[in-house]
Amino acid sequence: MANKLTLNLNDTQTAFKSKSDRELKKTAWLFRLMSNATLTKILSSLGVWAAKMRLPISTRIIKNTIYEQFCGGTTLLDCQKTIDKLNSYNVLSVLDYGAEGNESEHSFDATMNEFLRAAEFASLHDSVPVISMKITGLARFGLLEKISSGNPLNESETKEYESLLKRVDAVCHKAHSKNVAVFIDAEESWIQQAIDDLVDKMMERYNQTRVIVFNTFQMYRHDRLAFIHKSYERALAGNYFFGAKLVRGAYMDKERKRAQEMGYPDPIQPDKNATDRDYDAGIRFCLEHYEKISVCNATHNLESCKKMADFIEGMNVSKNHPHLNFCQLYGMSDNLTFNLAAAGYNAGKYLPYGPVKDVIPYLVRRAEENSSITGDIGREYSLVLSEMKRREL
Ligand SMILES: Cc1cc2nc3c(=O)[nH]c(=O)nc-3n(C[C@H](O)[C@H](O)[C@H](O)COP(=O)(O)OP(=O)(O)OC[C@H]3O[C@@H](n4cnc5c(N)ncnc54)[C@H](O)[C@@H]3O)c2cc1C
Repeated sequence: MANKLTLNLNDTQTAFKSKSDRELKKTAWLFRLMSNATLTKILSSLGVWAAKMRLPISTRIIKNTIYEQFCGGTTLLDCQKTIDKLNSYNVLSVLDYGAEGNESEHSFDATMNEFLRAAEFASLHDSVPVISMKITGLARFGLLEKISSGNPLNESETKEYESLLKRVDAVCHKAHSKNVAVFIDAEESWIQQAIDDLVDKMMERYNQTRVIVFNTFQMYRHDRLAFIHKSYERALAGNYFFGAKLVRGAYMDKERKRAQEMGYPDPIQPDKNATDRDYDAGIRFCLEHYEKISVCNATHNLESCKKMADFIEGMNVSKNHPHLNFCQLYGMSDNLTFNLAAAGYNAGKYLPYGPVKDVIPYLVRRAEENSSITGDIGREYSLVLSEMKRREL
């Protein structure tokens, strides 16, 4: 009963406790700017161009605005202050090194080394129990696409795949030895089979006594609920623990467009209700089997958090059991993270970090997500406005 009394996911006072009046006003200004779709489009293109040109002035502007809102810092050490601040509100951090779009073996090795450093760094901080990893940071997109299509690899591709396997294994091995978990992100459906196969291998290898490796399930795909069930059965048969991070999915438009252009069935659910239904069912399934499954409910959807918190309340288990986790992106949905943490749940933030030029694609996605073609006030902006009103700013 205590949970229901203490958990109010609309409490903006708790949500923005960590922000001074000045910081809150700056956040409001930024979200107001992003709420204009045309402006966001123009500024995003300018930002990408300026970052490519490596113009110092633009890097500084990006760093003091959108980067500061959504990223922890350019290096691990740079993230320390943010990690400590989050920790002072019982909020955990998930280190998320933001390397996207690099396609050389040299850059894949460099990214692997950064993941290894992140695992080491996490092991020294109790409030950083997890790092996240994108397989496209460790191998060519085209290679993952070919593996996923089921076509045989030629000799040099086989060598590339062996290198990828070594990189993934090196990170998971290090994480396992340091008792740090690894969330492996889900990406486009046409490379996901290769990712799933790798993650299954790693779970089998490193989840024997506790959950180290997590796969990610995009519930906007109509086949993912069945895949969660199958992954669970596989874990039971192999006698290992199953790590499941659930998301709705970030690439819907791209997925639909490709399916239409190439004439194959759309992998995405027919509508948002179907995605929500499978999302709820997936979370419920994981909670019902929490002894064998560690779940991360990775969402900005208030109802999804509320439903899981209510469900936990009905279970005979402590609400901060290590297998029951919530996570949001840094800079978004503080109402969920901070209120869940204040009520005693395991709640964390994905904390992206890396050089400004490397995280630009991530920042563009965040800006687009917070812009509106209809001119409606976005979820984040309206939360900040409520808190400003409460503080009479
Ligand atoms: C901590 C964290 C980690 C993440 N990691 C990943 C990851 O590894 N891979 C990844 O792909 N994404 C990832 N995401 C992003 C995530 O997939 C969503 O895009 C984002 O969180 C928005 O969904 P929501 O559940 O927060 O909220 P909501 O606003 O309730 O849902 C929006 C989502 O619903 C789905 N949707 C919207 N309209 C329709 C429709 N007409 N038909 C069917 N579905 C629809 C889409 O997935 C859309 O993004 C992550 C998000 C978080 C918070």
